[in-house]
Amino acid sequence: MGDISVEARIAVLASKSTQTTGNQRKTMSGFVIEPPTVTTLPVQGSDDLFPVSEIYCVGRNYADHAIEMGHDPDREAPFFFMKPRYTVLTSKQQMQYPSHSQDVHHEVELVVALKSGGQNISVADAVDHIFGYGVGIDMTRRDLQGQAKEKSRPWESGKTFLHASPCSELVSIEQSGQLNEGNIQLRVNDELRQEGNLNQMIWKVSEVISRLSELFYLQAGDLIYTGTPAGVGPIARGDRLTAIIENVTRLDLEVAQG
Ligand code: MN
Repeated sequence: MGDISVEARIAVLASKSTQTTGNQRKTMSGFVIEPPTVTTLPVQGSDDLFPVSEIYCVGRNYADHAIEMGHDPDREAPFFFMKPRYTVLTSKQQMQYPSHSQDVHHEVELVVALKSGGQNISVADAVDHIFGYGVGIDMTRRDLQGQAKEKSRPWESGKTFLHASPCSELVSIEQSGQLNEGNIQLRVNDELRQEGNLNQMIWKVSEVISRLSELFYLQAGDLIYTGTPAGVGPIARGDRLTAIIENVTRLDLEVAQG
């Protein structure tokens, strides 16, 4: 099925799973409503698609960013939060500026895509679970996140909205090799806003996978946004955003005017 579009594939799946009887649409497999559609990311250099399961994110995984947000990285360890998969947006699409915020920030991040999951994965074995990598942006309604922090409430209102998790095409680890270092940057309208090196992460990718697997139930298809370097800041309607991991992959986005 490598040569047909996503839309065509979804149509094939839909025709297999539903039948129409009078005014009633029933799914043949017994679902009372249509099951959710599969969220996918393209894989670089192929027609293959990566099906997204859950999205995990690491908070304050670069010292410079922890400091710019008013925290001491020597006293507070990184931590995790999650986003739903409907927030994924792929490269060359338009991002809709979300409601209820005047201060949406970009956070450029290495994204790790898992080909298998498990529990209590050791640091040494973690690399065996990596399908590949992308570059993503953990979009954040900073004003709503700030209000949540102030009241010690959960972060979803700040972190979750349509198009909150843009991600590039994925590059398989066979193609890229293991990414333990490399320049990561974000440009807004060609101006450099964020820059760092993957070797600055406080928790390395293998450690992130191992810790996540102790706390949660990792599965094939999970994406991990591994934290952002310093330089986060606001985006505006009409901005062109470019996220790059040098010599690996890039993400191009435009923020819609409307
Ligand atoms: Mn982030």
